[in-house]
Amino acid sequence: MVQTDQSQLLAKDERYIWHSMKPYNPQSTLVVIEAKGCWVTDHTGKKYLDAMAGLWCVNVGYGREELAKAAYEQLKTLAYFPLTQSHVPAIQLGEKLNEWLGDEYVIFFSNSGSEANETAFKIARQYHQQKGDYHRYKIISRYRAYHGNSMGALAATGQAQRKYKYEPLATGFIHVAPPDSYREEETATDPREWKSVKAIDQVMTWELSETIAAVIMEPIITGGGVLIPPDGYMKAVKEVCEKHGALLIVDEVICGFGRTGKPFGFMHYGVKPDIITMAKGITSAYLPLSATAVRKDIYEAFKGTEEYDYFRHVNTFGGNPAACALAVKNLEIMEKENLATRSHDVGAQLLNELKNRLCGHPYVGDVRGKGLLIGIELVADKQTKAPLDVALVNQVINRCKENGLIIGKNGATVAGYNNVLTLSPPLTIEDEDIAFLVQTLTAVLAQVK
Ligand code: PMP
Repeated sequence: MVQTDQSQLLAKDERYIWHSMKPYNPQSTLVVIEAKGCWVTDHTGKKYLDAMAGLWCVNVGYGREELAKAAYEQLKTLAYFPLTQSHVPAIQLGEKLNEWLGDEYVIFFSNSGSEANETAFKIARQYHQQKGDYHRYKIISRYRAYHGNSMGALAATGQAQRKYKYEPLATGFIHVAPPDSYREEETATDPREWKSVKAIDQVMTWELSETIAAVIMEPIITGGGVLIPPDGYMKAVKEVCEKHGALLIVDEVICGFGRTGKPFGFMHYGVKPDIITMAKGITSAYLPLSATAVRKDIYEAFKGTEEYDYFRHVNTFGGNPAACALAVKNLEIMEKENLATRSHDVGAQLLNELKNRLCGHPYVGDVRGKGLLIGIELVADKQTKAPLDVALVNQVINRCKENGLIIGKNGATVAGYNNVLTLSPPLTIEDEDIAFLVQTLTAVLAQVK
């Protein structure tokens, strides 16, 4: 066994580990040793309230023994079998997800959000072919959205700075601007007249309807800065999709599993998506697992008898038995503890408190959220809404961390627009933790200059 002296951890980390999304900086690296509830402990023994639930995913909180037990028991019984055949935990999870989705969907399992989206794109493209529609391959997505790190999911991503060093990416992806209610409110009474809806309609028309396979969207753009759309937006987009014969794929990788105060984010907007992708909260991140839920009648189109009718896509680890068993237990915990409703109630209370405490601050332009998904947009000037200098945004993040609070920073990732503080704590967060969060953030913001 590798023996690691605590004092050498950072040096060894520097030697062996390639971290995501940041230059190596030993001062800012936490080596996390253990976690319970909403709190994580680093190798020096310091504790932090994790108000990001990892990367928006540990929905039931850390340290749930029932989840470890579910995985352990399953690993003893059947550690692995590919889903070219079947096994009981996958079947149970498929049934449970249908209960959560409230409709008839067939589930394809993978391991990550990126893969769930790649799977969705391939299903959408092949679906149209199965119906004899051979030209529909284009996927429309929105600027500012993040859909994953692989060549297709990154092509769908609308954040140029994440992409330009890796191009050419997959072809056939087109972007339109999302609604940004803080910077430009949609004022027309009919959502069909909204700029953000007409943009999609127009692109489909100009690109030729018969070349469009699907639109992909998150209910709320999260990584791009917690952009909460006006209420009628998703429904109007679905109507535009139907008019042009395109499918609507909803990316619930962050918004799903209670994060926004309902089981899934699309449920706020009265829409039935054609395909739904999910990851993170499905297992509360205890094990890797993701899913692409496909409307039953779309699945039926793949049921021809010839070999070329098959969905030619396989995922070795996708839907592995331990992850599925753990996911079933995770969803049972969420049901028992009523965590989607809790997210709605506690989120509303937290949002209200943050608005009261922070809106008067000269740098706080907007405080917005749904459930326990909250964004605080920092601006240099409330009139012009010019984003706050990223060095000052970083100062807030770092001071919070020094004071034992982990929060996120998001935005369009275009230079200058990385100015939205994000909060997405475990849905189990208790009153005293909320008090600590609000107090720490308020105190840190008061000192920023
Ligand atoms: N979609 C969304 C909305 C995401 O936020 C993410 C990851 N943050 C992904 C997809 C990709 O998920 P993964 O990192 O598991 O591939």
